[in-house]
Amino acid sequence: MRVTAARFETASGKPGQEPPAGLPEVAIAGRSNVGKSSFINAFLARRGLARTSRTPGRTRQINFFVVNERFRVVDLPGYGFAVGPERERLDWGPLIETYLRDRATLRGVVVLIDARRGLGGEEIELLGFLAEHERPALLVATKIDKLGRGAATTTLRKLAGAAGRAVPVVGFSAKSGDGRDAVWRHLGGWVDDAATGGHKDART
Ligand code: GDP
Repeated sequence: MRVTAARFETASGKPGQEPPAGLPEVAIAGRSNVGKSSFINAFLARRGLARTSRTPGRTRQINFFVVNERFRVVDLPGYGFAVGPERERLDWGPLIETYLRDRATLRGVVVLIDARRGLGGEEIELLGFLAEHERPALLVATKIDKLGRGAATTTLRKLAGAAGRAVPVVGFSAKSGDGRDAVWRHLGGWVDDAATGGHKDART
């Protein structure tokens, strides 16, 4: 799919503030500093687009982007760091959990991990949560350019073993563009499935 248009739509800081469900959605999750903004900008080929979600006050919100007026990319707040006012921390779990569990138009979730770190407890928990709620997931190992070719292959093989057969694994580099096509193949499948009435029954 060629991205001809991508725009920031809105942000949600509380369950219920999401835009009305309509277009199919692909959510992107990952701990802070994993390379989430770089990933979104690189796969949409839009420099600076995801910067919107990093402006003060937005990092703890769910940010919605519309791509080609055809589907939404949903930038989930970074997890895995207990900073920020307590109130915001308390809001974080329910906000994301509610979205991932209940969103009728959510077609799949990209879980980002740093290729050099591997799967942590939070990612394992998240993948388990997604499996439990029958949400398709794609595991993307970011900054793969930081590993040599041999190490990258070993890492991806290990991750595939840890993630299980239901979760494909892709190595990605925002720097070199590696993995972009593979990511699009998976995301395109989710979005097209949705457009054609898809593999997943509509939820309420
Ligand atoms: P976010 O906090 O998850 O949105 O992470 P950013 O996209 O801001 O990236 C965090 C840091 O990792 C920045 O210094 C980026 O330049 C760097 N980074 C992100 N993606 C890549 C990549 O594919 N390769 C390399 N070498 N560095 C990356």
